[in-house]
Amino acid sequence: MMRTFSLRINGRGNAWPIPIGQHHPFYDLPGAPDYANASYSILEREGEGKIIKDILIDAGHGIVPFLLRHGNRIPDAMLITHPHFDHILGMDWIIQSYYRFRGKKKYPVYATRGCCEQIIKTMPHLKELCEFTELSYGRPVPVRETGEGMTVTAFPVYHGVHARAAAMLLVEIVPAGKRLLFTGDVLVPMIRQGDLEMLRGVDWLITDANNRFPYPKTNHWSVVRRHPEDEKYIGPWLKELTEPLMMVPHNFQNYTNYQYLLDYFRDFPEKEDYILTVLDFATRIRPRNLLLTHYSGLEDEKYYKEVLLDTPGLEKWAQETMDDVNLAMKVKVPETGAIIPFGKK
Ligand SMILES: [Zn+2]
Ligand SMILES: [Zn+2]
Repeated sequence: MMRTFSLRINGRGNAWPIPIGQHHPFYDLPGAPDYANASYSILEREGEGKIIKDILIDAGHGIVPFLLRHGNRIPDAMLITHPHFDHILGMDWIIQSYYRFRGKKKYPVYATRGCCEQIIKTMPHLKELCEFTELSYGRPVPVRETGEGMTVTAFPVYHGVHARAAAMLLVEIVPAGKRLLFTGDVLVPMIRQGDLEMLRGVDWLITDANNRFPYPKTNHWSVVRRHPEDEKYIGPWLKELTEPLMMVPHNFQNYTNYQYLLDYFRDFPEKEDYILTVLDFATRIRPRNLLLTHYSGLEDEKYYKEVLLDTPGLEKWAQETMDDVNLAMKVKVPETGAIIPFGKK
């Protein structure tokens, strides 16, 4: 039987998409799965039909209503980019469901060691219910629940001093011959020069588009940096951005991942080489497709007097932005529930 692979968008919302009592043009009020939930699934199906594997990437507040409404199936494993609530709070109910109804089996979770520790600190009861597999920076780790079907490689990112051991995840789907890069939330990627090569030409770059223009205090990168006003916000921040500061969330000297960070700073001694926008990153690694989620836009409105966009508006603007610099890349801003097919075997 032929197998097909696809990416499903389980939720797009950042940590504060719609605080109760507010409105936002990007997120419909009844769209509960979007609330504080940036989450994806890599699905493997028999033919076009039954899901035989669901590997979840991140699990925020909205993931539980999403899964209940979309097949009511427990994902087979989860990969976590970083331990912020809009990426982990839904873990609890998924893991409890699995543990209670699958004969007290521990749930497989893949994340960096610092991220695992932070998850346990936030939800101590999960310690007994999960089987954690540590991701070391730059090393592919097989996702055992897929047989030989998938590897995941973590790369460190700086997403503010409190985002402990935050990482982007390169997922290789072996039978489909496809590579997907999930950045999670990021302000500055901290990837060794040589490892950027590993990311070149990924099939999909799936990234956080919190704002279009830079406001580094959000701890998220922007899509571009070309606004006449942006030096005002990015200049003072860059002065404060030092190597020790960027090491804070990753700074555990007994961890295997520590050496990776030292290598990164040897590779990138100059701030001019830091990657500060989605556009910068796309220019270096040349993905075939770009998928933007996690949009807020509140900072664009407040600091740049730029309008908040809706879904088609953000997609059109981002596609034109990438076309302007001749990056031959298709941009998509998906709706929650969208399914993007990417391979057959
Ligand atoms: Zn987030
Ligand atoms: Zn975050």
